[in-house]
Amino acid sequence: MGKKCIVCDAEADYKIKDTPDYYCKECAQENFADLGMLVNVEEEAQRLKEFLKEKIEQNIVEGDGDESVNSLRQD
Ligand SMILES: [Zn+2]
Repeated sequence: MGKKCIVCDAEADYKIKDTPDYYCKECAQENFADLGMLVNVEEEAQRLKEFLKEKIEQNIVEGDGDESVNSLRQD
């Protein structure tokens, strides 16, 4: 993954929404009482993967590659 906590340089588990700031679990809990504003890095990656997988599966079902490629680019 290669993302490091900006506080202690450990491997980051969390990221603040809409910022490039990464935190490990410990520092995230220390600095943020509410982890709701943090994004779990792994979950985010997983969600993106699922999203792309769905798009690809839709391609196969619809059998129309061009249109789906365009809609992916717009995102
Ligand atoms: Zn840390």
